[in-house]
Amino acid sequence: MITLTLRCPYCASDRLIRYGVTAKGQQRYRCRACGRQHRENPGSNAYSAAERDTILRAYAERSSLRGLSRTFGVSRNTVTAWLKKKP
Ligand SMILES: [Zn+2]
Repeated sequence: MITLTLRCPYCASDRLIRYGVTAKGQQRYRCRACGRQHRENPGSNAYSAAERDTILRAYAERSSLRGLSRTFGVSRNTVTAWLKKKP
């Protein structure tokens, strides 16, 4: 059993509280130090194919990279790289 010490990716505080789950069942956390929310994503900072598909589909509908950044926490550079890779 591995115990993960979760830290806020924004301010590195470990004062995190559980804050419900995402639509995909991932635990979501809220930081008590800076008040921002994030998802648990242990071991990897890469996006899964499913996540990428979801984000790219949202992009196709709304076509706002800034909106995607706010909604998914994905950087605009990341989305731009995906769009270049897609045929
Ligand atoms: Zn924080």
